[in-house]
Order: sequence, then structure tokens, then C-alpha cells
Amino acid sequence: MTTCQLCDQSDETGSMLCVGCTKATEVRVQSLPALNRGLAPFLRPAGGVGTGRSGKGGPAPLPVNEDILDLRGPGGIVGVAERWLADVRRDRGHTVATPSGGVDARLQAAVDGLLVNMPWIAVSWPNAGYFAKDIRDLTKSLTSIIAPTPAVSRGQRVGNCPAVDLSGTICGAVLRLAPGEKAIVCPWCTCSYPPYVWAQLKTWVDEDATRAAERGVRPQVVAGTTQ
Ligand SMILES: [Zn+2]
Ligand SMILES: [Zn+2]
Repeated sequence: MTTCQLCDQSDETGSMLCVGCTKATEVRVQSLPALNRGLAPFLRPAGGVGTGRSGKGGPAPLPVNEDILDLRGPGGIVGVAERWLADVRRDRGHTVATPSGGVDARLQAAVDGLLVNMPWIAVSWPNAGYFAKDIRDLTKSLTSIIAPTPAVSRGQRVGNCPAVDLSGTICGAVLRLAPGEKAIVCPWCTCSYPPYVWAQLKTWVDEDATRAAERGVRPQVVAGTTQ
């Protein structure tokens, strides 16, 4: 009888990971190439992205793609998978192959290698819990970029568009996440806000609301927050 290193439930097979967590970890490892491909569209600057704020005093321009570039680069998802595979091979006394080829091929090779070793990892590897947690965190953060659990529900009023035009005027049109859309697109200035900038978007919306309140304007950002 042992305790599963991922879910802390007791496991009567005496393994490091229980059957459920082993299966879940396998599925997560298998999903890495698809998640990696799923990030690609976020690298393309969408129309209007980058036209966010600039100039004096305002926040930096919309953060574009740097994090996603890092994730898709050699040190990102593929780096994580290769490091774990190298650890597994070392601990099993197997030779550690030097990865070669493009990032996609390397990722697939690392994923295949991890899956082959999964039974041993689950039953015998003392680091199984760290590995399973790391893979869970990685897939969770990737999924949150690609298909975010909507902090914003469809059709909900998000706030007023914080884009600033050349004259320094805030757009202010009402932003909503339209049905079927992945990004919030301003109906007035067409500035596009993909999910990975929503946190920043919320900050700007809140700032504008505060400033409007200071000027004595009723901000009407989200129904019920006006005072
Ligand atoms: Zn478990
Ligand atoms: Zn706008």
C-alpha cells in the first residue's frame, strides 16, 4: 500500500502513481504535440494587436507572443519533455540520446520516449510525482492559452475598449466576447484582444474606470459596479 504521489490517494498496487493518475499523465504527455501546434496561431499578430497603448505614460504596447515564442522554442515544451526523458533514462541506466531534428520532431521523439517508459515511471520511479505534477502544470498553462476557461462568458460585457488612437483618445466602445470568437474584438476600432492579453486588458479597463470615476464620470464598466 502506497500513496499516489499525484493525488495523495492510497494505492493498493504499491505504485508511485495510482492507475487514474498514470492514465491522466499519459494523456497529458500525448497531448503535448497538439498543444504545441495549437500555440502557432497565437504567434501571428492578429489585426490590431500591437496597436494597444503606446506613448507617454500609458502601459506598454500589447504584449505580443514573446511567451508563446519561448514555449514553442527549443527550451520550451520540447525542453521540458526532453529533460524529463533524460532523467528517466539516466535513472534506468539507459543511454541518453542527444536530441536532433526540428522542434516538432524532437517533441514527438521525447513524447514517444516518455510514453514507452510510463509503466516504469508509474510503478518504480521515485520522481514520478514531480514528473506528473510538472506535466500537469504545463498542459494546464498551455490549455489556458489556447482554450481558456472563459473568465469571460459569451456575450458578457467585458468593459470599455482601452485602445488609444493617434490623438491619445481612448476608444471606449463596449467590448464583448462574441459567440464563436476566440478573441475579443472591438466593434468600433477593430482592435483584437486574444485570450493571452485578457489579464492585461482587465487591468486597463479597471484603470480607465478608476480614472473616469476620478473625473466624476460614471464609468459603467460592468453592470452593478457603478456607484
Ligand atoms: Zn493518483
Ligand atoms: Zn476600440
